[in-house]
Amino acid sequence: MKKHNFSAGPCILPEEVLKQASEAIINFNNDNLSLIEISHRSAPFVEVIEKARSLALELLGLENKGYKALFLQGGASMQFLMVAYNLLNKKAAYLNTGTWADKAIKEAKEFGEMIEVASSKDKGFSYIPKDYTIPTDVDFFHCTSNNTVAGSQMHEFPETDVPLICDMSSDIFSRQLDFEKFDLIYAGAQKNMGPAGATLVIIKEEILGKVERHIPSMLNYQLHIDKDSMYNTPSVFAIYVSMLTLQWLKDLGGIPFIEKVNKQKAALLYAEIDRNPLFKGIVAKEDRSTMNATFTLTDDSLKETFDTMWKDANINGINGHRSVGGYRASMYNALPLSSVQALVDVMQALEKNQK
Ligand SMILES: *Cc1c(COP(=O)(O)O)cnc(C)c1O
Repeated sequence: MKKHNFSAGPCILPEEVLKQASEAIINFNNDNLSLIEISHRSAPFVEVIEKARSLALELLGLENKGYKALFLQGGASMQFLMVAYNLLNKKAAYLNTGTWADKAIKEAKEFGEMIEVASSKDKGFSYIPKDYTIPTDVDFFHCTSNNTVAGSQMHEFPETDVPLICDMSSDIFSRQLDFEKFDLIYAGAQKNMGPAGATLVIIKEEILGKVERHIPSMLNYQLHIDKDSMYNTPSVFAIYVSMLTLQWLKDLGGIPFIEKVNKQKAALLYAEIDRNPLFKGIVAKEDRSTMNATFTLTDDSLKETFDTMWKDANINGINGHRSVGGYRASMYNALPLSSVQALVDVMQALEKNQK
C-alpha cells in the first residue's frame, strides 16, 4: 500500500501522473524511445514544454496578458539571485517571513540596497507581519506566499504600485489569487508540481530591460523568453512530469476545485490540532498555511509513542524541519483527504491511549 506521504518537498505527486511518467521513461508517445533519450528539440518534446508553459499560464488565468512562462534550472534558490540580477537597479524592498525569504534577501544585498520592510524573525517566523509600508521608489517588492518551513502563509497581499514579485514555490496552483497583481512569480517544481530539477518562472515581460548591468546569458530572463525556454537543454523529465500534473489539475477542475479540497484538508487537521490537548499549533491562527501545518506535542515525553504510532499507520514525512522541530504535515495538491484523516486518526488514538 502506498504511504500517506506528507513530505515537504520533493513531495507527493498524483498516482496517475507517476504511472504515465514511468511509461514515458520506457516508451514515450509509442515511439519506442524513452522521453529521456530523445532530443529536447525534437517535435514531441517541444510539444511537451509548450504545453507545460501554456497550461501554467492558463491555470493561473494569465494567458494573453503579457506574461511568459519559463522552465529554468537551479531551483527557486537560483531565482533569489536572478530576480535581483535582472530587476534590482538601486533598491528593492523585501518582506522577511521565513528561511527562504531570508535567503532571497541575502542574495539581493549583493546587487543594491535592500530594504527589509518587516520581519517575523523575532518570533521564529511564527506569523506574517502586516503593518508595513512599501517605499514608492524601490525597483520591486519581494515576498514569499507560503513559508514551507515555518508553516505560515500570506492570506493577503499588499497593494503597491511597484512590481510585485513572489516566491510561490510551496503554494502555487493551490488556491485562487488575483495573479495579475504579480509581475513575477517563481516556484521550484518539487513542492506542488513535479520532480526537482525545474523551476517555473512567470514574468510580465514589460518589467524587463530596466537594469544597467550586464546580465550573463544563463541568468538573463529576456534571453530565456526569446529562446522559448530552450536556450540550453532544459530539464526534460521534470518538465514532462510538471506538464502531466498541470494537465491532471486542469482535468480535475483547475485551481477553484483544488482550493476547496485543500481547504477541507487543512480544516480537518487544524481542527484536531486545536481540539486535541496533546497537540498545539506553532503558527498564529490567522496566518496558518493550508499547505504545511506545523505543530508540536504538548508533552515531549510522548514523542516516541507518537512517532511509532504514525509510522505504523503508514504515514511518511511529518518530522518538522530541523530549524523548527516538532511536526510538519505538508498537504500539497496531490495528497488525498483520506491521508489527512489517517493522521487525525493517529492523533486521536494517541489521546485515547493516555486516558
Ligand atoms: C523549497 C523552497 C525554496 C528552495 O527551492 P530549491 O528548488 O531547493 O532551490 C525556495 N522557496 C520556498 C518557498 C521553498 O519552499
